[in-house]
Amino acid sequence: MIPAADALRAIALAGQGQNVSEIARDLGHDRKTIRIYLNGHRAPGQPRQHADSFAPFAAYVRQRAADDPHLRSMGLHREAAALGYAGSYSAFTRELRGHGITVSCGTCRDWKPVPPSRGQERSPGPLPFRTAPVTGETIASYLARAAAASSLPIEAVTRCLPPWFAARAGGCDDLAVTGQPQPPDIRHLAALTGTTETALRHALPSLAAGGRPPVRAVFSCSRCSARHGQRSPVPVHVPAYQRVCCRHRTWLGRTMQIDVTAVPDIAAAGRKASRLARNYGVGRFVLAETTARQGTIGKPEALRRAASLALAVPGLDPGHPDAAEAAAYPQTIKVAAAFLRTPGALPGGPE
Ligand SMILES: [Zn+2]
Ligand SMILES: [Zn+2]
Repeated sequence: MIPAADALRAIALAGQGQNVSEIARDLGHDRKTIRIYLNGHRAPGQPRQHADSFAPFAAYVRQRAADDPHLRSMGLHREAAALGYAGSYSAFTRELRGHGITVSCGTCRDWKPVPPSRGQERSPGPLPFRTAPVTGETIASYLARAAAASSLPIEAVTRCLPPWFAARAGGCDDLAVTGQPQPPDIRHLAALTGTTETALRHALPSLAAGGRPPVRAVFSCSRCSARHGQRSPVPVHVPAYQRVCCRHRTWLGRTMQIDVTAVPDIAAAGRKASRLARNYGVGRFVLAETTARQGTIGKPEALRRAASLALAVPGLDPGHPDAAEAAAYPQTIKVAAAFLRTPGALPGGPE
């Protein structure tokens, strides 16, 4: 863009009958730029990208729709708007359709709000075996594991708890905002599973108050869940920026987990990503990451890393989308950091 004053002057000169070449020469800008303002394609002072343009947000929205299918179009629109997308909700849903972005989880069961408990539930004695929650675990998974640890059907456990738990365990969206559990409900659960309220609140995102956080629905790092004696995958919600378990150097892909020990840059980039998300906010970081990735996937540096991964992990297809994303990750985060530092590099930020 050119300074607003120059654009206004160009329009005034055109009004006085000067042609594009004369104006361009007078103001020291090229003719193409002057024409954009004279044709009204851009208002003086307006940045190059129209604020309601979907294009700069497309990669972000595509990723968020895949990462948290329960956000739905409303939640996606809210997130994009917070990042500077100025289009209306109906314009947004048109863009989703146009870009072929699906926003439903496909296996969703409805969440039915339940009336608040009246304290008539059986006061639960502790289950014979204590079950510690895995960080980020869904309520349905936690209750199922607690029941299984004591060789009980899940109904035997939900029957002892306020109705909120049975409803949430039967629904699909673990983070639906309606009807948050009350402190006595969480106390009930802690008494039953032999844990503490603090541990439960800390580990289970659906017990936290304060709206839907930006998360990805994935399976817990297999080595993290093994620490809880858990061999089968545990469904969890992790912060939206988290792609890798840095402790176990495990890539948390969409369809598989990859041991990335052979390429230490990947876990290092994961630590850098969490620092950037802390400094710039999760939303802006993910916008930077998804924008950066468009230029890093499949590039020579990423292909080299993919080959190293494939050599170290038997059976890994270096062309698998999760492997390609992991291999490009160090470069992606480097470019994302540069975008975040550079004013005007991302939409909606400071010019
Ligand atoms: Zn669902
Ligand atoms: Zn781990």
